[in-house]
Amino acid sequence: MRILIVEDEQLIAMDLAHAITAAGYVAEIEGRGEAAWHKVGAEHYAAIILDLGLPDIDGLTILKRWRQQGVTTPVIILTARGAWADRVDGIDVGADDYLPKPFRMEEVLARLRALLRRSAGRAEPSLTVGPVTLDTRTCEVKVDQRPVNLTPLEFRLLNYLFHHRGRAISQAELSENLYSHDHERESNAIEALVGRVRRKLRADVIETRRGFGYVVKTPP
Ligand code: CA
Repeated sequence: MRILIVEDEQLIAMDLAHAITAAGYVAEIEGRGEAAWHKVGAEHYAAIILDLGLPDIDGLTILKRWRQQGVTTPVIILTARGAWADRVDGIDVGADDYLPKPFRMEEVLARLRALLRRSAGRAEPSLTVGPVTLDTRTCEVKVDQRPVNLTPLEFRLLNYLFHHRGRAISQAELSENLYSHDHERESNAIEALVGRVRRKLRADVIETRRGFGYVVKTPP
């Protein structure tokens, strides 16, 4: 899942990107409002972390434009400490959550996970399909209660499929959401990756829909 970080202060943006990447997502940084606004129109993100104080357009204006255009991506706004009016305005124009600066990385990640769960229509922090359980807090995967060692990329694949279960996901969509832009994508990389995850899980949870992609079925 790709998370867009819209923040012009490089240190904060880099810290966020590191923490988000370590938590099993793909992070992308954009320092300018106008560019962020266009990006969200052109690409799919699972969530956006939006700083309100940006050099060109302010975050509130961008958020308002996204919502007017029907962009429903969950947004967490970053506000200055004590700026309660910003938070109220932000939530009024469609922010899903807010964090006052300075914040602790653990809190950002907890709120991000909660937001992603809610947008996937679930309240619990772990996802279970058949014998496989994926814990979004610890990035652990278990099959029949036994831990399975997945690489970060393998975890991102399973996490994405579990969050979108019940829907066939194409290789292009997976590749878009698992790799950062500078990563060179090979056409058979996803197929090989799915194969590795299937072998490690030794459980039949990822199905191939010929011509459509991969699907994790919702439990009855
Ligand atoms: Ca700023």
